[in-house]
Parts: sequence; structure tokens; C-alpha cells
Amino acid sequence: MTLTPSPRRLFLIILLAVLVGRGALAATDAPVVNDITQLNPIHVREIITPTSVEEVAAAVKSHDGPISIGGGRFSMGGQTATDGALQLDMRQMDKVVSFSQEAKEITVQAGITWRKIQDYIDPYSLSLRIMQTYANFTVGGSLSVNVHGRYIGQGPLVRSVKAIRLVLADGSVVRASPDENRDLFYGAIGGYGSLGVIVEATLALADDVRVERQSSVMPLSRYASFFKEHVRNNSAVIFHNADIYPNAFDTVRVTSYVKTEKPVTVKERLIPKDANYDLDRNVFAVISEWPGGKWMRQHIVDPWVFRGERIEWRNYEASYDVRELEPASRKKATYVLQEYFVPVARLDEFVPTMSGILNRHHVNTINVSIRHALPDPGTLLAWARTEVFAFVLYYKQGTSDSDRKAVHEWTRELIDAAISFGGAYYLPYQIVATKAQFHAAYPRAGELFALKQRVDPTNKFRNRLIDAYYERKAPEAPGSGSEGSGWSAKPTTESSNIEAELRSVKGYQRDEAQTYLTLPEWILVFSPAEYARWLSAHEPAGFPYFGAIGQFWGYYHDAYALTKQKYPFNFGYHLMVFVIGTSFTVENTLKGLYENTIGRVTEWTSHGEPTPEDRFGARVAQEYVDFIRVDPWYEFSFFRRFQELWRETQFSGPHLLRKWERKLALSLEYLAKAQYAMLITLGTKAIYGDADSEMLVWATNVSSEALAHEPKIKVLRQFADSSELLSLPRYEEFRDAVERLSAEGVIFREIAGNREILMTLTVPSAWPYDLPAGRVVISRPILTEPGNRRIGIAVPVTELQSVVSALGARHFVIEHVFDY
Ligand SMILES: Cc1cc2nc3c(=O)[nH]c(=O)nc-3n(C[C@H](O)[C@H](O)[C@H](O)COP(=O)(O)OP(=O)(O)OC[C@H]3O[C@@H](n4cnc5c(N)ncnc54)[C@H](O)[C@@H]3O)c2cc1C
Repeated sequence: MTLTPSPRRLFLIILLAVLVGRGALAATDAPVVNDITQLNPIHVREIITPTSVEEVAAAVKSHDGPISIGGGRFSMGGQTATDGALQLDMRQMDKVVSFSQEAKEITVQAGITWRKIQDYIDPYSLSLRIMQTYANFTVGGSLSVNVHGRYIGQGPLVRSVKAIRLVLADGSVVRASPDENRDLFYGAIGGYGSLGVIVEATLALADDVRVERQSSVMPLSRYASFFKEHVRNNSAVIFHNADIYPNAFDTVRVTSYVKTEKPVTVKERLIPKDANYDLDRNVFAVISEWPGGKWMRQHIVDPWVFRGERIEWRNYEASYDVRELEPASRKKATYVLQEYFVPVARLDEFVPTMSGILNRHHVNTINVSIRHALPDPGTLLAWARTEVFAFVLYYKQGTSDSDRKAVHEWTRELIDAAISFGGAYYLPYQIVATKAQFHAAYPRAGELFALKQRVDPTNKFRNRLIDAYYERKAPEAPGSGSEGSGWSAKPTTESSNIEAELRSVKGYQRDEAQTYLTLPEWILVFSPAEYARWLSAHEPAGFPYFGAIGQFWGYYHDAYALTKQKYPFNFGYHLMVFVIGTSFTVENTLKGLYENTIGRVTEWTSHGEPTPEDRFGARVAQEYVDFIRVDPWYEFSFFRRFQELWRETQFSGPHLLRKWERKLALSLEYLAKAQYAMLITLGTKAIYGDADSEMLVWATNVSSEALAHEPKIKVLRQFADSSELLSLPRYEEFRDAVERLSAEGVIFREIAGNREILMTLTVPSAWPYDLPAGRVVISRPILTEPGNRRIGIAVPVTELQSVVSALGARHFVIEHVFDY
């Protein structure tokens, strides 16, 4: 029998272990919030369903941790939740508060759907002035996205909003309109719930009129002038859009619904709620999956759908149900939307760029619908900064990791394209844009974040979108003129001077991505620690060697997933992880196979009673872990342990077979590792030289008491704003220093020039994350401790003190703070 498995078998073992590791991730009792794509499950702490403004205000006031807000949950990238949040599911706040037929105005609770409003106002022959194509969305969700529809002479939803009522982070309820609390009005509308909970809205209504459908097909090249001449200034056109046929993208079906006095051909005033959509679903399946499906749509399905005269009520055309799009299953593939906005004059340039990207990446495009919007009157996250055409891309994608990765790639290309034409991309869809892309597309985001910092100083209102882009600024020094809020959004000249000075300090700036990328290396500490703990109470054969391999690659996958969108690809690092991961894999595979065959036999002969060699092995396992927590593993002297093994253990004694088998197995292990460590020592020094031993930290509120018993923490510089540059020890001692400084109230501004840092800890599996800041970005079970999991938390550096203190108060032990 050979101890080395075939490559194919090894691969299967690893794959199995990876899958087992990942499968266990989903096992937790916390409620899950997902969206229509089913791509974004998020474990929240609790979901509540308030029915009144008072209930919302009370819940917000009394909850200190993160709060997220859910409407219809049709946004597609986790915009409605964040890990461990208290989720306000607004759908029970669905009442009409007041209505005036004469003033054509309605005030509603924010969880109401458009459809419910339509049911209410239709008998008065009134319509919503602006909404999306489908009527399932809530008013609050639509306001927070600042949606648009197919209306001509309109644009973003904010244009039809007279006022809103908002619950702020302190539980106060404020009214905001274009004349009152303007900043909150233009921040909250389109603000994705970042400022507070919209609890009520007053909306302008329009007349419900009869509309006649007019549809024709034309080359795309004619569309811009057709729109300008026949649509743009034609007040009779209520709805209008143009569908570009993929994959040629050179032909459009142009459809307008024009006001008419003719009698309706569609008798219903609203689409029946129980309409059957089986046919529509099958048609979408044919278009997206069948060879020739797209041709059939263009040449058979659409000519049939758009045949003959059709006259209907405006409300009918505005009451579509998203059920018509819902596939039988979203498990392996899912329909997804994206949207891009470009100034009207750039249409002819944008379409070929967009279609080039879609075709080059073989995107399964079902439709691209062109819509029009007048400029936004002033929302801070305005997607229509000028008059724009919107390109609504509807496509199908697989749900596997590689499918998602591919989508991210071409999406970022499309975002770049839209930005290069002076446009933007839409935020309610998958969160793919880099920070730079986000700020380029939404140049006033900084103003929104400054406002958020003022009205939501503890960052209560959060979701995946806010988490991705919101950065709180560090507190200002006393006397800097902004004591009122305690926080400033823009760095003062002084702090920017300090930042510039810091960046010139040698060794100050380290790569932020490393906080995540060092995780797999630390798994090579955590896993031996788990092994040493196991050996202190169990025989070696029962250790989950193959599971440990799966965990390593699983964590590597997590670290890669967390960095690939945000930071440039670091080839050298990935190569290094591949090398250490492979040696870890080989070591654990060999050990797993050996311990589960020969090891089990000799274990059986000793009746599970440990020999001195067993005890020696357990002791060395622990020494090794203690050593590598501070020093590089390859400096551990395996050769000395080999010598000690033969010096300290006898040649004879009870359980002779087990005794000698252990002697030989441990000798082989120590000698092989001594050789390997020697090679790595030479290689590492040749490539990197000796590792740095200090971590530079910019901090404030550093009292002399905080440093009194910290000989390893040095003050390197003091700045005019009373902040200081500190030198902290690295690795495990860094964690200890952070904990002690946090306990003394020291606030970190930057660590190694970075604003975000990862930490890990072991928590009970069912623990819902409820800390004041930070978000869970990694969660995996501890293989030898059922009921516990290791979580990785990404923490803004400025929040580190509050998070570390909150963990201390809950008696959680921080495993590691990843110091880049
Ligand atoms: C099939 C389909 C078609 C679509 N068509 C269009 C379209 O034609 N035009 C268009 O512009 N968009 C369109 N969208 C996007 C859609 O309009 C947005 O995703 C919209 O937010 C959905 O509303 P919702 O009630 O589901 O909001 P949710 O997805 O539940 O929430 C959206 C955001 O609003 C926040 N939020 C929700 N309620 C409140 C509240 N009361 N107070 C504060 N914040 C709140 C949430 O936290 C979240 O950040 C479409 C989406 C789908 C799935």
C-alpha cells in the first residue's frame, strides 16, 4: 500500500472537504434575509414588522446595534440587510394616511406597495405620477432607491414627492420636503436607508387616462432622432421605451402609450391580481435558453404580442406583477437586472460599447430597454445628473462562484464605460463597483456620508451597500470647531497635513488587502492550535485532517473573495499561499491516511492509553503553536525535538508496538519538517529579508496612563492636534496591545495607513452579530468544537476601540487582529 494518494483522489478529498466546510457555513439559527435573486442570504439578528410610526421610532431608539430596513426586497445586492442587524420589515406599514382627490395628493405609510395605492385611487380616476414598470415595490424602498419608470416628461421618483417623514437614529421623527429639512429630503430619497427610516410619504398623483399603444421596429441608428422629434416634447406620450434586440443590438422595438379618447380594448382597469403567468415564464425560458430563442422573440413572439390595436387605462399599464418574470427555480440560474445611465447625447456611442462588452463576455442578454429621464432636482445620490437615457439590462446568469465572478468582471467594464460617457450605474443591483467607480458615478456621495455622520453618528442604519462604500471620518481634536457633531466629514487642513506627513514615514503605509490576505497564513497557526488542543485530550487518529485541508482552502477562498473586487491582484501572494497551502495539504493528507490506518492499529493495541511518545508528540504540538504565534514557523527547531524524543523516551516500556511506531512516525515527521524549514528559511530570507517587527499606528486620546505599563509601545511623533504616531509590536502582541489601548480609551485613526482591519474570534454558532460597528465577512465552523464558529469581522479602524470594548464586555476572546 502506498501512503501517497493519486492526484485525482487527492483532488476529490480536498473538494469534498471544501464542500463540507462551506456547507456548514449556512447552518445557523439567525433569521435570513434574501432578495429576489436568492444570491444574497444575510443572517440578521431579528426581524420585526412595525405597523406604526411610534413602533418604528421606539425600535430605533432602543436598539444600539446595526439596523437595516426592508421593503419589498426586490433590490438585488443585499441593500436591505447587514449581518446581525435588527431588520425592520416595513411591509406591515401599508396604510393610506390621507388622500385628497382635488389636490391629487396621497399620504401613505412607507411599506405600502404601489399596487395597494392603485387599488385605492383607481376609483377616483387617479394614477401614480411616477413609479417603476412593476407595481409590487414598496413606496419606502422605491423612494430610497429614487426609482424611475417609463414615463415621458418625468424622471426620478423624487420629482413626484411632496414630503416625507423620517425616523432618525435617535428615534426622533422629522418631516422633510424641498422646503423643510432639505438636506434630509435630498439625502434620504435615493439614500438607501442610510439616514433613517422613511415612515410616510406624500406623493403627487396624475389623472388616469386611456392610452393607445403604438409600436414599431427601427434601426437603432434612427432612434435618437425619432425620440427627439416624436417623443421628447410630446405631452400626449405617457409611457415610452425602446427595446434593443440582442445579440446584434442594432434594432429596436419602440413602444409608446399615447393619450387617447378612443374606447378601451382592454376592459379591466387594473391587471387582475390572480393573472396566470405560466406562458410568460415559458417564453422567457425559451428566449434565454433555446438556440435561436432570441431570434424567435424578435421575429415571432414580439410581432405577435404587439399586433393589433390596444387601448387600455394608464393604471392597467402601470400594474404589472413581477410574477410574470419569476422562473420555476433560481437555484442554478437566476434572472438579474442592471442599469446604466448616460447623457442623452451619448446614446449612439454608448450602445456599441455596451454591446461589445456583453457579446465579448457571452452574456445571456434577454433584453436592453431604453428609458428616458429628466434631470434630478438635487438628491445626493442622483443617477440623473443631467437628462439621461437609462439602459435597463435584463440577463440570465448562473449562481456558481465562477459565474458570479464572470459577471463581476464584465459589470465593472460596463460601469467604467458608463462613467467614461459622463454617466452612472444603478445602485439597487449587485454590488460590484469599486470604491473609485462608486465615487466617480456618484460624486456627491461624500455629502451624503457627511450628513449621515451628523444624523447617525454611530452608523446604526446599515446594509451591504452602505457597508461597501461608507467610511466614517475620525473624530476631530477638541477645539477644531466641530464639537457639536463630534465628527467631521472632510479632513481639516491640519489632519490632511498630518496624513501627508505620515505617508512620508518609512514603513508607515502597508497594503490594506494584507489584512485579509494574511488570513490563510494564520489558519496555519489556528489549525495546529486546534490540533494541539485535540492531542491534549484525544488520540491523534480522530483529528479531522481532511476537514482541516478543506478549511484552509475555504478561508483562502474567503480572503480572495473579500479582496478581489477592492484591491489589485497580488500574484506573488497567491503563489505563496498556493505553496504553503499545498504543503499543508500534503502534510495533512499523509497524516490523515497514516493515522487512520497504521496509527489506528497501534492505537488499538495500546487500548487508547497514551505512551510517553504520545505525550511527547502532544507537548511538541503545543510548543510549536506557542512558538509560531510570535515567530515564523520555519525557525522552530524540529531537529532539537527529534533529538529530545530519543533522549527523553525509553527504548522499552508498556505498549511496545505503539511506543516504537510513535517513535518512528514522530522522528520521520520532525526530520522531514527540519529539512523543509531549512529550505524555506533560505528562500524567505533571500526573497523578503527579515520580517518587520513593528506596526505604525496613528491614534488619538493616548494618555500617559495608557502607555505606563507598555514598554513595547513607543510614541514616535506627536502632532499639533494631540494625535500621535505609535509603534506597536506585531502579530499576537499586536492584538494584546490593541486590547489594552482600547481599554484605555485610545481611538485609532489609521493602522499602517489603513482604514479597515480584520479580526477573528470564536463565538457560539447561533450568536447574532450585534456589535456597534464592523460586519461579519467570514464565518466557518470549528471542526473539533461543534456549536462554535470562527467569525472574521471587518472593522473600520476608527471603530476598533468600540468593537474591542464591546467584545470585552461580552467576554469574547479575540483570536487575532490581522496587522497587514
Ligand atoms: C423585476 C424588477 C423590475 C424593476 N424595475 C425597475 C424599474 O422599472 N425602475 C427602477 O427604477 N427600478 C426598477 N427595479 C429596481 C427596484 O425599483 C428597486 O430595487 C426598489 O428598491 C424595489 O423596491 P423594494 O420595496 O423592493 O425595496 P427594497 O429592495 O426592499 O429596498 C431598497 C432599499 O431601500 C431601503 N428601504 C426600504 N424601505 C425603506 C424605508 N421605509 N425607509 C428607508 N429605507 C428603506 C432598503 O434598506 C434598501 O436599501 C426593478 C427591480 C426588479 C426586481
